[in-house]
Amino acid sequence: MFQSKLFGKTLRDPPKDEQSINARLLVQAGYVEKLMAGVYSFLPLGLRVLNKIENIIREEINVIGGQELLLPALHPREAWEQTGRWETVDDLYKLTDSSGRDFALGATHEEIITPLAKRDISSYRDLPLALYQFQTKFRMELRAKSGLLRGREFMMKDLYSFHVNEEDFNAYYKKVADAYKKIFNRTGIGERTVFTFASGGTFSKYSHEFQTLTSAGEDTIYLCEHCGVAVNGEIIDEQKVCPECGRPKDDLKIEKAIEVGNIFPLKTKFSEPFKLTYKDEKGEDRPVLMGCYGIGLGRVTGTIVEVHHDKEGICWPSAVAPYQVHLVRLSDEPEIVKQANALYEKINKLGLDVLYDDRDASAGVKLKDADLIGLPLRLVVSDKTVKDGVYELKERMSSRARVVKDIIGEIDKYKTFINQPIGKTL
Ligand code: ATP
Ligand code: MG
Repeated sequence: MFQSKLFGKTLRDPPKDEQSINARLLVQAGYVEKLMAGVYSFLPLGLRVLNKIENIIREEINVIGGQELLLPALHPREAWEQTGRWETVDDLYKLTDSSGRDFALGATHEEIITPLAKRDISSYRDLPLALYQFQTKFRMELRAKSGLLRGREFMMKDLYSFHVNEEDFNAYYKKVADAYKKIFNRTGIGERTVFTFASGGTFSKYSHEFQTLTSAGEDTIYLCEHCGVAVNGEIIDEQKVCPECGRPKDDLKIEKAIEVGNIFPLKTKFSEPFKLTYKDEKGEDRPVLMGCYGIGLGRVTGTIVEVHHDKEGICWPSAVAPYQVHLVRLSDEPEIVKQANALYEKINKLGLDVLYDDRDASAGVKLKDADLIGLPLRLVVSDKTVKDGVYELKERMSSRARVVKDIIGEIDKYKTFINQPIGKTL
């Protein structure tokens, strides 16, 4: 991609109306643009990041047998009345059309997926089943001031699973937890993300969250440094000890964290109102047990930025960077242009995504923008490098540039490094 043609120019200064680090950097670097509080447009760079995260999630959920579908965002009031949630879900956007008919904008999709699942579930032979989608959710978030972390409209991966009994449900729940670990490792926040016990609502002892430790987090968690799991502050008073190893509450460390994903036992909360049952081997009707599992894509994007940035800008982990290589040309001399163009072609041929700064701008501006945009590898071609027959290579995360001769060899090495493995097939 030629940077001179890229829609989403960098801004000289951070936006004044954003407080959170993720929004300040993502807006200034041209990844997203705010339409109103909690609602953002994803510009070409931002969409590339979102798509990379989406693909990582898709690969890992497919490995555990999830089947992707796409449900509507516009829901009839009746679906939400069936579960009593038309009245009780505070953050539901409700609208009425000119004929007087009421709708909700999907805040979550249990009300849609459960009756849909009835289409194919009648016998124990139809179970287990796992269905998921990537969908825009709408929620009346009144405290939308954390950039991409809390949107009124945001992309979610939501997975729903259907089972004959607790045992089968528990086994699948564990598989999803493992898939989530892989997802957060691959998106570069794994080391800071902890498995957290959270409220299971009125019908289940626990749910679990994946919480990423950062001061930007809205949640307070109690981390057990002995076993590495945490307890959400919302339920700490009911716990007293680490639910994993029994250490007393006073030994747990209080941390701020962002909930990037969660997994939730639904038991029969939704199968009952929708009469989602199956016939067991004796031909008797039994309720289907369900689980639901969410990951917010925008929230993951914002979390990555909160965790991986410095004072110059974003430092993308390779697997989610919009481009792998930032080729920065610091001269308009015809010979330099020729060499840089040829290099651009070569790196593209190697199968790496390259952003090529071919703009008519000063070296200072170009290098500053490269740091702000934050691609993992910066490759500088200048009068000096061409004269010396070398290239200048700098990893975004490291403070020093290296002079290299065999650039293709270096890039090839790097390519192996970014091709991280995905989970094993079942
Ligand atoms: P929170 O407690 O932060 O409001 P939640 O419990 O409402 O989250 P869920 O309804 O379970 O979250 O949604 C599943 C996932 O969707 C969350 O783990 C999070 O990653 C993401 N998510 C939830 N609300 C938002 C939001 N307003 N903006 C962006 N992502 C969100
Ligand atoms: Mg919420």
